[in-house]
Amino acid sequence: MKKHNGGYFGKILHVDATSGASRIESIDDEFIETYIGGRGFAIKLLWDNLAKNGTVDPLGPENMLVVAAGPLTGVYLPSSGKNSFAAISPATGIYGDSSMGGGFGVELRQAGYDAVTVVGKADELSYLFIDDDCVSMVPCPELKGKGNLETEGRIRDKIGDHAVRVASIGIAGENLVRFACVTSEWSRNAGRTGIGAVMGSKNIKAIAVRGHQDLPVDSIDKVVEISEQAYKELAAHDMMGYWQKQGLMGVIDYANNMGILPTYNFRDTHWEKSKTINGKTMLAGHKIGNTACFCCPMCCGNINLVKEGKYAGTVTEGPEYETAAMLGSNLGIDDFASVLRGNHLCDDLGLDTISTGNLIGVLIEGYEKDLLTLDDLDGKPITWGDDDRVMELIDDIANCRGAGATLALGSKGVLARWPQLKPIVLHVKGLEQSAYDCRGASSMALAYGTSDIGAHHTRAWTVGKELEMGAEWDNSEKVDLVIYHQHIRSLFDMFGVCRLPWIELGFHEDFYAELY
Ligand code: SF4
Repeated sequence: MKKHNGGYFGKILHVDATSGASRIESIDDEFIETYIGGRGFAIKLLWDNLAKNGTVDPLGPENMLVVAAGPLTGVYLPSSGKNSFAAISPATGIYGDSSMGGGFGVELRQAGYDAVTVVGKADELSYLFIDDDCVSMVPCPELKGKGNLETEGRIRDKIGDHAVRVASIGIAGENLVRFACVTSEWSRNAGRTGIGAVMGSKNIKAIAVRGHQDLPVDSIDKVVEISEQAYKELAAHDMMGYWQKQGLMGVIDYANNMGILPTYNFRDTHWEKSKTINGKTMLAGHKIGNTACFCCPMCCGNINLVKEGKYAGTVTEGPEYETAAMLGSNLGIDDFASVLRGNHLCDDLGLDTISTGNLIGVLIEGYEKDLLTLDDLDGKPITWGDDDRVMELIDDIANCRGAGATLALGSKGVLARWPQLKPIVLHVKGLEQSAYDCRGASSMALAYGTSDIGAHHTRAWTVGKELEMGAEWDNSEKVDLVIYHQHIRSLFDMFGVCRLPWIELGFHEDFYAELY
């Protein structure tokens, strides 16, 4: 195998959850150089293993879950803690993936694998334990119905090692909610496309990983030299302090000023109450600390505490922009403590906050416009800003109760039951739209509409350029930029690094190419 600076172990671990058997497949240079890693490996593995089946039931045992880090995951360089979770999505019925930060992917690499695949279905609720080259399915019926926070701790207790990395599903994943996420380290989520439901369909509550191997970097001296320079550049950036303070919460004001803040189920694009859920409000009364993914100096994770009121004692890592917008302005919630509570519930129950906020917004608007009856809402009315009912609905979605059971089916399921809602359900291919309204940034309509996984902003985020260029921005240039983003952003997911230093701090992509 050729040497790469990030390096490959050249091994893919294949696990059959039904039998508990596992095997290792070696990959060659051609595979590596064509598909690079992360979601590149995931797409190739899914294609090779599933295309022959024609149609795949996303929640059937034949679906394949792929967890793939990249060649730069875990290497000593800024923001290199990313890995991809992928499968045929239960939200869309086509390929889906989602990227997770933190340290889970790093540990997977240290266990000696470039990717892991899982097919089949365990007889009883179990966790997959990858302990270097010792791989086992461990029954854990006692974790049924447990939230992500408790699950992670109890698996670590059971293994007797709190350095083990755990990626788990909450109740939503167990109940096959179509937008269930996979969660690690409290709130590092592979949030989109319902990968948590795929794990749930396989009776896999969690994947625990422990690894002790050195990464096979070609030249540690070169890695250190390039990375030291990169850390210096980032540390000197004007916006670094701002990022460490607010993280993505600074985007609330930006989106509101630009007219792209989802408000009242995307009915409005600007909210006069946006200050109640912005970064300054967070800093003034709630933030108690920062967290970061592996080796990331931007440390954009905000740890928040609700100090008083009915949600007092709630601690959550988050929100970031998407969550604050979708559980705040999009639902008319003008109380930051309620946003934090909603964020905490979604993380613990294992729900994607974007899809959750999107679909609860649909329910509120549907009821307001008499498209839904009180019976449809289990006899419980709801209106904008009704945080009590929103919290109840979040729990109902995860537990598939009442109206929540319909929302749990995602946009496609909602429209199958309530086709009259079609004008107010914002989705592409069955994936609910992220928190950037297209009317203030029309290039995002193209980005969402042509995204391979549905309406998710990370495939192409052209908002900054749209703001810079204004209404005169030529349409053909918008097309070019969307295509450029769709290409370059896949590289970050394939390398296993975060895109934020690049898109937010102008960190040059050549840096990664040099290390690869
Ligand atoms: S910028 Fe934020 S999401 Fe990206 S690696 Fe750093 S802490 Fe993680």
